This record gives sequence, C-alpha cells and structure tokens, in this order.
Amino acid sequence: MMLPRHYNAQSGVTMVVVGQPACASFRDGTVLMRCPHCHADISTTTSFETGTCAYLWCIGLCLIGCDMGCCLLPFCCDACKDVVHSCPNCNQVISRYSRM
Ligand SMILES: [Zn+2]
Repeated sequence: MMLPRHYNAQSGVTMVVVGQPACASFRDGTVLMRCPHCHADISTTTSFETGTCAYLWCIGLCLIGCDMGCCLLPFCCDACKDVVHSCPNCNQVISRYSRM
C-alpha cells in the first residue's frame, strides 16, 4: 500500500517572529512578522485572489459535467483562491500563498 504523500515531520506551528518573508509560513491566516518594506512589526492583512487552483477546479468541474454554472463556484470560494499577504502599515504586498 502506497501513501500518496509524504508529510514533513516538522509541521509544528512556528512562533518565531521572522524578518525574512521566505522563512514565514504564509497560508490563509495572518502572519506576525517585520515588514521588509517599512520594517514595522506587523500582523499581515490577507486578501484573496483567483489563482491557478481556482481555474483547475473550474476545468475539473466542467470535465465531470458541472458546466451549467457550477464550474464558476471556485471563483466565489475563498478556499480555492490564492492568499495575498500585505502590510497594513505601508500596504506593500509581502507574499502570496498559492494553493498549488
Ligand atoms: Zn510595511
């Protein structure tokens, strides 16, 4: 029996405030960090943008016959969208979390 994925054993929540965005785990939630643009200690604001995942869901739903409007659902569902993290202080985009 084969497992489809191998999970990283180090999947604990990191509580360290990081200075480099590449080290932070940007996902759906806000991230405590120092803004690389204005160097303020911030909690990122998140917004959702349609990404590759939503398009793939749309195509997938069309392929299984949900082409009467259901295929547009991924574009209305935040869970299928990419997450954009930005700084509330200077409004610069810090990172994007792609679900792909
Ligand atoms: Zn900033």
